[in-house]
Amino acid sequence: MKQHFINNRWVAPASGEFIPVINPSNGQTFDNLARGNAQDIDVAVRAARAAFEGPWGRLTATERGRLLQKLSQAMLDHAEELAQLESQDCGKPLKQARADVTAIARYFEFYAGAADKLMGETIPYQNGYTVLTLREPQGVTGHIVPWNYPLQIFGRSVGGSLAAGNACVVKPAEDACLSLLRVAEIAAEVGFPAGAINVVTGYGHEAGDALTRHPGIDHISFTGSPNIGKLVVQIAAEHHTPVTTELGGKSPQVVFADADLDVLVPVVVNAIVQNAGQTCSAGSRVLVERSIYETVIARLTQTFEQLRVGPAEMDLDCGPLIRQTQLQRVKGFLDEAQRDGLKIAAQGQLVKEASSDGFYQVPTLIRDVPPTHRLAQEEVFGPVVAIMPFDDEAHAVALANGTEFGLVSSIWTRDGARQMRLARQMRSGQVFINNYGAGGGIELPFGGVKASGHGREKGFEALYSFTVLKTISIKHD
Ligand code: NAD
Repeated sequence: MKQHFINNRWVAPASGEFIPVINPSNGQTFDNLARGNAQDIDVAVRAARAAFEGPWGRLTATERGRLLQKLSQAMLDHAEELAQLESQDCGKPLKQARADVTAIARYFEFYAGAADKLMGETIPYQNGYTVLTLREPQGVTGHIVPWNYPLQIFGRSVGGSLAAGNACVVKPAEDACLSLLRVAEIAAEVGFPAGAINVVTGYGHEAGDALTRHPGIDHISFTGSPNIGKLVVQIAAEHHTPVTTELGGKSPQVVFADADLDVLVPVVVNAIVQNAGQTCSAGSRVLVERSIYETVIARLTQTFEQLRVGPAEMDLDCGPLIRQTQLQRVKGFLDEAQRDGLKIAAQGQLVKEASSDGFYQVPTLIRDVPPTHRLAQEEVFGPVVAIMPFDDEAHAVALANGTEFGLVSSIWTRDGARQMRLARQMRSGQVFINNYGAGGGIELPFGGVKASGHGREKGFEALYSFTVLKTISIKHD
């Protein structure tokens, strides 16, 4: 039974109610977590404010950085425990959960080093003046975290916010939050002052909504679905609270005839199989120059058919989806594709050890998907990839940019001029050339355009979102 973690202590939910925690690999309840409401959020926001105005806010940037570094090391010291929790809670194969622990430790390491390098500027102005800028923390930041990468998303948003000097209130997803409660507890153990990191669990429409509406929140970092992202922005506008949104994508991999297929095939497969396709930057559309279209399908088919799906603890290529409703959603896309006569080119295999009560979907490659089909336009959030041909560069760009999203794209070609020409035409926050970074790259600014959201997380750039720029003009002559 897990309570909220507020002010460095376990706190019972005001409602007295708990939510079952289900293991996606077998559908069994294995723990319970506090059902947070507006009262719990208020307690957490007050705790964060007191920390910001008190012991946490008084630390120098260097001292903050040292604490972040200590937490980074402590997470590595607890790596196996955190990986097991994340794996059981999210249904991730263990090697993926271990990679997520490495990533959160690296986020904290990166932001530890950045904390005392966040500087303002002096600005040339009129004679007789000196003008300078200060980058000040926002104050209390709210973080609404989804279930697909709890550790990583905590690392990138809470890590950046703490480095910039803010105190944080985190609302993880109701489906997966055990690892984050443990990270908050470890932070207290390594010496973070009470109230610097607070975690309130519960449903989005209760705890998440209360966090969004709270007048004491100075910035919200939201990662999740486009509809809820839009709602959060609208509600936050009531108090003029700035919001960073990261809302997923329908990211294209554009493959030209001169691409190195030996390099490309494993990368393209991993970009959709990783985390069972429940990755905002999953490479869910593969666009292939017509002359090599059948060759690429044949090569991908060979690999897809070898993919094994099963319980997280078996550590196979792919685990279950997060919950029953997500499985139904993915199956809905596949049923529609079948009704519309689309062809499945290849599928992975479900191992016999997989429980019939788990939420399994085998990786599926669907060919000749018309660009206007739902499968080519909407985020499935499962291990389903749509493949389609293109005729020339202009056609490739039109297809790549032809969805409402714009998170990540990739271009596979050895032609250097084409690489840069296309990179500039892609309407996405990141462009990878001859590689693909689904979720990767702690140092690389990340975020979308269009329905993929706005603002940037990761890298040094993220620190700017978590600060307010103050301009000071001094007249001295
Ligand atoms: P969601 O948007 O419902 O949930 C994300 C987070 O928002 C969770 O913590 C949730 O509790 C919270 N939330 C939900 N309703 C809220 C509200 N009214 N106010 C404030 N917070 C609220 O996403 P989901 O239902 O978990 O997943 C549905 C779809 O979202 C997926 O199929 C996928 O398309 C997308 N998704 C994208 C990402 C991403 O990284 N971009 C992550 C998860 C889900």
